[in-house]
Amino acid sequence: MRIKDLRATPVTVPLEAPLRHANGCHWGRFVRTIVEVETDDGLIGLGEMGGGGEAATNAVRALKPYLIGRDPARLEELRFLIANPTASLYNNRTQIAAALEFACLDLLGQQWSVPVSEILGGRLRDRVAFASYLFFRYPHPNNGTSEVRTVDQLVAEALRLKQRYGFTSHKLKGGVFAPEYELGCYRALAEALDGDSFRFDPNGVWSTEQAIWFGQQIEDIRNDYFEDPVFGLNGMRRVREKVRMPLATNTVVVTFEQLCANVLDTAVDVVLLDTTFWGGIRPCIKAAGICEAFQLGVAVHSSGELGIQLATMLHLGAVLPNLSFAADAHYHHLKDDVIEGGKLAYEGGAIAVPTGPGLGVRLDRDKLARYHELYRQLGSYPYDQDPLRPGWAPLIPNDRWADPKDARVPDLAT
Ligand SMILES: [Mg+2]
Repeated sequence: MRIKDLRATPVTVPLEAPLRHANGCHWGRFVRTIVEVETDDGLIGLGEMGGGGEAATNAVRALKPYLIGRDPARLEELRFLIANPTASLYNNRTQIAAALEFACLDLLGQQWSVPVSEILGGRLRDRVAFASYLFFRYPHPNNGTSEVRTVDQLVAEALRLKQRYGFTSHKLKGGVFAPEYELGCYRALAEALDGDSFRFDPNGVWSTEQAIWFGQQIEDIRNDYFEDPVFGLNGMRRVREKVRMPLATNTVVVTFEQLCANVLDTAVDVVLLDTTFWGGIRPCIKAAGICEAFQLGVAVHSSGELGIQLATMLHLGAVLPNLSFAADAHYHHLKDDVIEGGKLAYEGGAIAVPTGPGLGVRLDRDKLARYHELYRQLGSYPYDQDPLRPGWAPLIPNDRWADPKDARVPDLAT
């Protein structure tokens, strides 16, 4: 089996509402680039990548000469071909290498008639549990609904998600408003959903002192972990000395070098593995093996996904023996998907690991065309900007918080 063609198609898929985060906002939609690797025997392997609201079409297509004629089974060679660690200093292709790895694994699974999880060691579980991923949300630009800004709105949204999807763990994305306000929000969630577990993630925008203060205020809550309260291993280490709960990161342990540093002088208890940030599913499994040996926790991180990347997260979650936390996904905020059969379904707070060959998801060509057209109409958006605070630059540590009394509706094309 040899690679014959490589295609990249940017798509825009609407969200229920704009999602606010510490560094900006998803402006009511996700922009993702769908990657297709076609072989000489007619199989098509699927990959997917993000790009901060922008298409990655050109960056992916530029690798076509590297791939034509290659054997998709040579995954280790692909890593050095595309993302050699020193060459990557000039052209960081880790995320593209991930999208290509997904596609090659999808091809191998189809060729061998097995799900990707069976190639990766075999599934240990048939379903992967997910946490509700709660965001502060701007009202929908068209109808003003779906806002999450006040404590009451947040609690109502959490109860709605629990009722609809069955989540028993809840993550609040913070770092939008001042920490005192978000503390009230988090405590209200814990009170309203007593018995469930919680995690808080301000995306590393606090000072160490703010993080220690906040952490000490929530020690009585049933926390899964405290995620990236500050940016940097040294700050995390200082917080860890003063706060009695596990610390987690998806930002400062995303390479093997950083994982080594964390093992030698531990700053983080739980490593959140992102199939894109780490360069593929297989690097995540290697990292999880190191974490297993050193008794560090792991979980599955979400960097915003459609069904193809979600499938990579499910196959990863299926094969990790040391997966002891619910995974994260933005997926329930999406209104649609580009895969056949529509969005994968949650049941009891979990999603079934696909059992078909390869990744187990196939493209719905009509939806791909429809959402590619939407991308052409709307273009990119700046993930690291807030539509209602133009020019705002989020400092670290930040003190330029949004105002929780500001109930404006952003004027965004959707
Ligand atoms: Mg995070």
